[in-house]
Amino acid sequence: MAGPPKVGGYVESWCGKCKLMLGHTIEAMVSGEPARVQCNTCRSQHSFKPYKPGEAPRQVREREERGPLGPLPGKARASHYHELMKGKNPALGKRYSPKDKYAPGDLVEHPTFGRGVATALKDGSKIEVLFEEGPRVLIHGR
Ligand SMILES: [Zn+2]
Repeated sequence: MAGPPKVGGYVESWCGKCKLMLGHTIEAMVSGEPARVQCNTCRSQHSFKPYKPGEAPRQVREREERGPLGPLPGKARASHYHELMKGKNPALGKRYSPKDKYAPGDLVEHPTFGRGVATALKDGSKIEVLFEEGPRVLIHGR
C-alpha cells in the first residue's frame, strides 16, 4: 500500500471519459476520502468514483440487498418505522381518536406515543400502529 490517500497522491478511480478504472491524481479530500480527482490519462477532472458504475463494492451491495427490512434485530424495527414514515406527509397525520376509523398506511398522531403509521387491521375495532418505540394496538371505529 502507498499509505493513506492525500491530495496530490495516486488513486484508482473510474474515469467516465476513458470508461475505465485508471490511475488518478487526488485533487481534493473530504473526510479522509478522495473527493475530486484528475485522470492521469485524459486529464479530465471529476468526482472520485471508486468503482465502475453498476459494480458497487461488496459493502454497498450488501447494504442494498439487506434493505430496510433487513435481519438486524433491534434496529430493524426503528428503521422499519423510518422507512414507513419516509414519503409520508406529516401534515396529513390524523389525530388519534378511538371514534375514527383507520386503514393500513394512515398516519396517526397519538397524544402519548407520538406519530405512527397504521400497519394492520386486527379485527373490527382494533388497528396496529407502528410508533417509533414499537407497535401498539389501538381501538378505532367506536
Ligand atoms: Zn480519463
